[in-house]
Amino acid sequence: MNAELIAVGTELLLGGTVNLDAQIISEKLSELGINVYYHTVVGDNDARVRAAVEIAKSRADIIVTTGGLGPTYDDMTKQTVAAAFGKKLVRFPEEEARVRSWFSGSGFKFTENNLSQADFPEGCTILANPIGTAPGCAFESGGKHVVMLPGPPRECSRMLYNEAVPYLKQVCGFSEIVSHNIHIYGMGESAVEAQLRDYMLKLTNPTLAPYAKLGEVQLRVTAKAATKPEAEAMMTPVIERVKSTLGSVIYGVDVGSLENAALIRLKERNLTFAAAESVTGGLIAKRFTDLPGSSAVFRGGVVAYTDDVKRSLLGVSPSTLETYGAVSEQTAREMAQGARARLNADFAVASTGNAGPDGDPVGLVFVALAAPDGEVTVRELKMGWDRERIREATAHVLFHMLLQAVK
Ligand code: ATP
Ligand code: MG
Repeated sequence: MNAELIAVGTELLLGGTVNLDAQIISEKLSELGINVYYHTVVGDNDARVRAAVEIAKSRADIIVTTGGLGPTYDDMTKQTVAAAFGKKLVRFPEEEARVRSWFSGSGFKFTENNLSQADFPEGCTILANPIGTAPGCAFESGGKHVVMLPGPPRECSRMLYNEAVPYLKQVCGFSEIVSHNIHIYGMGESAVEAQLRDYMLKLTNPTLAPYAKLGEVQLRVTAKAATKPEAEAMMTPVIERVKSTLGSVIYGVDVGSLENAALIRLKERNLTFAAAESVTGGLIAKRFTDLPGSSAVFRGGVVAYTDDVKRSLLGVSPSTLETYGAVSEQTAREMAQGARARLNADFAVASTGNAGPDGDPVGLVFVALAAPDGEVTVRELKMGWDRERIREATAHVLFHMLLQAVK
């Protein structure tokens, strides 16, 4: 099965809105093992939407549209798509009742054009929208499947997950589809691919596909089978093969992120950590406390931006700061030691560096990790990126060091 996505909305063409729906839908479809071959963006214009649908019809098995489902004059997706498939729009009584009851409860004035929200292509399946006013719909015609989703990304993703995916699984005769993510840190996407390209190309079910994220790579294994256990059994040898090929750069399977992997491991061992942050400015604490359950593991953090705070709150010695400066191996070491002692944690991480654009040299960062035995590991990093990426990458390195240190 292959799919084409048509996003309808002039605001997308003018650059005012990013086509987030395309990302959401593509990601989900690829998870289902549906190949997305084309993305089209078209304005709110009947003739051009019609032309886009005709093209999609000629080359895709599944057409997914987003946007233009509302009641206003520029919302025409249902009419136009239905016409392209020779279908009429008909009023669905349950939907009419829903629209009327929504208005009677809302205090908004009901106008006749609101009833267009109850009109759908004849014979279609309605896709409920509990968090918005415009439902979506889906139908099959001449062997093609059409799914229409609302524009607002929150509504689009919710309807996709809860309504469209089960619909597609059923009508396309999909069996169980299960996938696992293998997380890799410390090896670039091209190096990962180079080692596994031949193997990936050979695989059809399960499939193996790489995804590059900022600073890390994920390999997704997906299997289709009649039952979940069968799918799992098919994936086991693939995961084993990847593990034996890539070795220690794999830090986990289905662990979400570096920080989540660290959280899982620290929790299992009943250990805690703290952070002393200069260049990361609280990012480590933020990323870690984004995770539910982090309170069992994270003692707290100090954002020690000035020398004065490094001295008074973390106990970095004045002579260290004077002799070596704030951006130095020695300062990073004492920050980590200070945080571990003062915040009473098993491990502590520390960051100090120049994120730029001021400071010299930009991208020079020292990170440190203090371990329960009092040992401190310090690393010097040189990064040629902008401020945001330097901070993100520094947090990545520290979470990875922490993960490796927790044996
Ligand atoms: P509504 O009932 O809210 O009118 P709709 O299905 O008619 O929903 P549109 O009117 O096309 O959707 O778009 C509503 C809003 O949703 C747009 O202003 C835009 O902010 C957002 N939106 C639409 N399409 C996309 C898209 N592809 N990606 C991200 N946001 C989108
Ligand atoms: Mg609209």
